[in-house]
Amino acid sequence: MSVHENALNQIYRAASLAGISQDVLDILSIPMREVRVSIPVKMDNGEQRIFEGFRVQHNNWRGPYKGGIRYHNNVDLDEVKALATWMTFKTAVAGIPMGGSKGGVTVNPKELSEGELERLTRGWTRAMHGVIGPEIDVPAPDVNTTPREMAWIADEFGHPAVVTGKPIEAGGSEGRGVATATGGYYVFDKLRDRLFVDPEMGTIAIQGFGNAGRIFAGLCARHELKVIAVSDSSGGVYNPEGLDITALQNHKDSTHSVLDFEGAENITNEQLLELECGVLVPAALENVITEENAARIKAKVVLELANGPTTPEADDILFEKGVQVVPDVLANSGGVTVSYFEWDQNMKGEHWSEEDVDAKLKELMHGAAEEVWARKLKYSTDLRRGAFILALERLDSARR
Ligand code: GLU
Repeated sequence: MSVHENALNQIYRAASLAGISQDVLDILSIPMREVRVSIPVKMDNGEQRIFEGFRVQHNNWRGPYKGGIRYHNNVDLDEVKALATWMTFKTAVAGIPMGGSKGGVTVNPKELSEGELERLTRGWTRAMHGVIGPEIDVPAPDVNTTPREMAWIADEFGHPAVVTGKPIEAGGSEGRGVATATGGYYVFDKLRDRLFVDPEMGTIAIQGFGNAGRIFAGLCARHELKVIAVSDSSGGVYNPEGLDITALQNHKDSTHSVLDFEGAENITNEQLLELECGVLVPAALENVITEENAARIKAKVVLELANGPTTPEADDILFEKGVQVVPDVLANSGGVTVSYFEWDQNMKGEHWSEEDVDAKLKELMHGAAEEVWARKLKYSTDLRRGAFILALERLDSARR
């Protein structure tokens, strides 16, 4: 099944419990607009390469389209459609007045120089003229894009509110860099007792050591949760006694990989997913927990910091095993929530303090977690269906 089909499946499963009208579902099954562009880039060696770029605007009933832009070799229209669809549900779950979209470029950014990346990013922005804009559609960082890329987009477009996740000096918000991980921690902390994660089970395995996974690992360490394994695209490291996260972050910075960390055993990404632990945190890419490996997952809780890490078939297997999955549209919605705060500050010409941003983020994340939990109880279902039902209710009422 394609990722976009997975996303649709999640919507239909929730809708069938909550009695959402077919007209609404038909509209939500198809993005409102799909844009594909080609971006010619002059490479450092003087040759021209043409890259393929995308923007999919899934839905704007609740506000301007909102969603990141991803640079990865696997980016294609199907993936961007799925990611855009999830953004519509995520902004609705978080309760912020934005819609859902996503963008991407099919590229391995690690093969490009900084100058080539800048020309590619500015090229994407020019190609999206009339498609993106502060009151139309507002991009942000996603896999392999950072505040640096967002600053290029804002500069090329000529208005800070066209994009979020910018460096502070370019109109960025305090707290945006840590927002995805921090929001995930607030959601986890709110639901912790109800998920039956007693202190004994406070052992964490994290797949992915990019923006979300790395910062989440640091937060766990600060809150005395034991991180026993982490991985990146090259593989993982494991120490049942717990990893020293600060030392591991330094190790990653100097060697560009988490592998061969002193005192830890090298493991594969597949092994990490199947470790005995309290909380498994997929924080990389989609489709990593599937019907093939779900039965072997030993974690008690899966906290999805990645988008779409669990397939619908795997969801069913985990549910039967009693593994609670805190879904992406709730668990990683802290990123887009602070993105909305950034956009709001830019539109009003304000700059909020780190404390203000954090307090507002905490309030929204706790509220969203409560609302999702209430629907899980009301419909005797899992948290993913609970979250999708909440989003469908809010989307339907916006449409009316
Ligand atoms: N790319 C992030 C996500 O998947 C953030 C999107 C945003 O801030 O607009 O939620």
